[in-house]
Amino acid sequence: MKSKHKIQSICIYCASSEAIDRSYFEAADQLARTIFEEGMEIVCGGGKVGLMGQLADTAKEVGGTITGILPTFMIEIEKQHPGLTRMIEVETMSERKLAFLDHADALVMLPGGTGTFEEFFEAVTLKRLGKITHPIVLLNTGGYYDPLLALMHRAVEERFMDDRHVGLYSAVDQPEEVLPALFDAPLWKEEYAKYAAVTKK
Ligand code: AMP
Repeated sequence: MKSKHKIQSICIYCASSEAIDRSYFEAADQLARTIFEEGMEIVCGGGKVGLMGQLADTAKEVGGTITGILPTFMIEIEKQHPGLTRMIEVETMSERKLAFLDHADALVMLPGGTGTFEEFFEAVTLKRLGKITHPIVLLNTGGYYDPLLALMHRAVEERFMDDRHVGLYSAVDQPEEVLPALFDAPLWKEEYAKYAAVTKK
C-alpha cells in the first residue's frame, strides 16, 4: 500500500473491559492481523485484559511484534500480557501516554472507556498544538463512536474548534479501512499551531 507517511509502528488505544460484545474483539483481532501482514508493529497498553489482551493474543498467534508500555504499579500486580514481545516500564500514567507517542508513528483508537478516551484526546490536543504530527484514525466499530463524532462536529460548527481541525483525525467503520486511512491522512505541520485557538472572523 502506498503511504503519505512512514509508518512502522502503530499505537492502539483500546478497552481494558472483558465484558464487551464479541464484535469488538473480532475487530481488534482483524486489525492486528492486517498490521502484522504489512510487516508493521503494534504498541499498546500491554494489559492482558480486554482489547489490549486480544491484540497480544493475535500477535502471539501470527508471530507479530507487540510492545506493551506499562506503569510500574500495573506490573507489580501482574497486569501485563505474558506474550508481549517487549515490555517498557514507566513510572506514571502520564509518562506512559508520552511513551506511546515516542514509540509509534501513527495512532489508532478502538472502542474503549475513559482510559481510551483520554489517550485519544491527549494525542489530538497535542497535534492541534503542533507538538506531534502522527496520523490518527478512530475505528467506529458498530457505530460506537457516533455520539463522540457528533460532539466533535458540533464543536467545529459552534466554533470551539476550527474547520481545519477536522483534519486532525479521521474515522472509519471497518478494521481493513484503518491502514488506508492512516496512509492517506493529511500531512500535519507543527506550524498549524498558529490556528490552535479559534479567532473571531
Ligand atoms: P479503558 O478504555 O477505560 O478500558 O482504559 C484502557 C486503558 O486503561 C489502558 O490503556 C490502560 O491505560 C488502562 N488499563 C486499565 N486496566 C489495565 C490493565 N489491566 N492492564 C493495562 N492497562 C490497563
